[in-house]
Amino acid sequence: MTAFDPMRAIASVRHEFGEHGGVNLSIETSSTFTVMQAGAMPELFQGMRGPEAGGCYLYGRHFNPTVLVLARQLAALEQTQAAYCTASGMAAISGVLLQACDTGDHIVASDTLYGGTWALLHDFLPTKAGIRTTFVDATQPEKVAAAVTRRTKVVYVESVSNPSLRVADVPALARVAHDAGALLVVDNTFAPVVLSPARHGADIVVHSLTKFVNGASDLVAGAVCAPRDIIDRLFDLHHGALMLLGPTMDPRAAYEIAMRLPHLGLRMREHGRRALAFAERMRDRGLRVTYPGLEDHPDHALLQRLANPGYGFGGMLTIDMGTTERANALMETLQNQEGFGYMAVSLGYADTLMSCSAASTSSELDEAGLAEAGISPGLVRLSIGYTGTIEDRWAELERGLAGVPVHA
Ligand code: PLP
Repeated sequence: MTAFDPMRAIASVRHEFGEHGGVNLSIETSSTFTVMQAGAMPELFQGMRGPEAGGCYLYGRHFNPTVLVLARQLAALEQTQAAYCTASGMAAISGVLLQACDTGDHIVASDTLYGGTWALLHDFLPTKAGIRTTFVDATQPEKVAAAVTRRTKVVYVESVSNPSLRVADVPALARVAHDAGALLVVDNTFAPVVLSPARHGADIVVHSLTKFVNGASDLVAGAVCAPRDIIDRLFDLHHGALMLLGPTMDPRAAYEIAMRLPHLGLRMREHGRRALAFAERMRDRGLRVTYPGLEDHPDHALLQRLANPGYGFGGMLTIDMGTTERANALMETLQNQEGFGYMAVSLGYADTLMSCSAASTSSELDEAGLAEAGISPGLVRLSIGYTGTIEDRWAELERGLAGVPVHA
């Protein structure tokens, strides 16, 4: 497969000038749009004359011009025919799953997923909609194949999993999903630019744009990147899950994200450069560090094979401190004494963010779920930032680590 550069693809999308020829696109704030001929209304409501089909805009929950500019850029990023922007990552995920599955249908999902997604699949969807999920070790595609049933509509994984940092073998999983007549849905929140799952066979790529893509921890947003017919179904005015559930992206949020996309590649490269440097140094100190850029990571070769060249291995790493107490002591020292980063959930910020997964973003998982996902009570997840110099930050990290006994 030829090398792909997602930032080049985004740059090739037609530039959207502002209303008065400004270099920045305009924010279209109208929630409703004027239709010039009354006779056009029925066709607009049947989706036959949308803005992408030479028609006009209708209503903000359906299409907004500013949001549509961002959607085109995200489709280029993920190399899908189309994209649709949502109010959050969870809105994108739940919309896609409710569109793909009816009551009685079945999902096969990785057993290591973001806690909110795990709770949606494990508890919410079976209770509210009668959609069941079987969780398996998706690093072994044969286990996914064995879990498929007649009713399986979706195979669901994260490209790089939260927080265990396992890498999905997207080509192998796509074969399994397609043999079963199911869709492969990949959450690429942890690895935008680094990985392009649709180029390796994923049918739908979902994002929490809240994280690396926006990169400023100042808004919550999501996106679905998919073939045109799937996107069309999601916002079908009469039947679409996103249209009827209504998690629409605000045009002001779309504008902010569109302004930050041009430096997404630079940011990912720097997050990755620093994460690799810290991971190597921590490994050399004998710490239990997990980073897919390290050669001893079980998926390092797979990631090297699938990754777009030049953007590194991502900005996320974990350290297993053995116990909750040691994990908490490390985070408090690093934040309150050293100023190394912030004890905060989320990821992809300019500064380093640290959280203890079992007590926070994976707290939805029950004991069995935590064990299956390999999340120990002392696992500290770090989203490595790029402020300050590497050497100053490393000195802070070393001092913080020195103050806390490491192994149980
Ligand atoms: N997917 C992953 C991998 C996440 O880490 C998160 C949130 O942490 C989400 C989805 C949900 O995104 P949002 O908070 O934007 O709804």
